[in-house]
Amino acid sequence: MDKVYILGLLILVLALLIYGIPLLYGRRKVHLKGDRTYISFDDGPSEVTPQVLEVLDQVGVKATFFLLGEEIVKRPQLVKKMAAEGHQLGLHGYSHRHPLKMTFPSQYEDLKRGYKAFEDLGLKPAYYRAPHGAYTWASLYFCSKYHLKILHWTGLVGDWNLEEEDVLLGRLEALSGPGHLLVLHDGTKGTANPLAKTLVPQLLEDLNDALKGHPAPLGTWRRP
Ligand SMILES: [Zn+2]
Repeated sequence: MDKVYILGLLILVLALLIYGIPLLYGRRKVHLKGDRTYISFDDGPSEVTPQVLEVLDQVGVKATFFLLGEEIVKRPQLVKKMAAEGHQLGLHGYSHRHPLKMTFPSQYEDLKRGYKAFEDLGLKPAYYRAPHGAYTWASLYFCSKYHLKILHWTGLVGDWNLEEEDVLLGRLEALSGPGHLLVLHDGTKGTANPLAKTLVPQLLEDLNDALKGHPAPLGTWRRP
């Protein structure tokens, strides 16, 4: 066999082992048991989160928030309020650096630091969702050691770009269904438009209304 061909095959197998397997494992679209559409929020908490909590309270729905350690330390009381109100909390890392651009030890440290931000408030996250949806061996190892369950989304609508609310609402409705877990962003990271998150509370309220006659209205999911 041609040496170049063997080398190419070897590189492909290595890439699959190093990057492919954890990515595929983490991104499995786990549809949650239940007959409702469920909602989660990433990249917070931020100045918009109190309004999100207000809407969730009004519509009687609990959500899952994937928080960043570097944002938790800025708004500790808000995080305690989220937990006290019965929302589920998940870890999204300390920073929002791209996991594929970090070494194993640096990502592990980042996750540990994020976890500690919860512990400092007397809280423990139950879930993990990777920044950029990029699961790695470091995050899988961390999750197994800290007993975090990976909870990827089933519906992502690009709400970090400033768009017409109707457009985003239409996408959310199309992605709703029994056991589906949608994600919105109550924080700004990376290339996200800082103004985009200000639409999120209204979007949540309108989604709840829009799904009232839907086969899977918005509801509260809890780990069985
Ligand atoms: Zn994120």
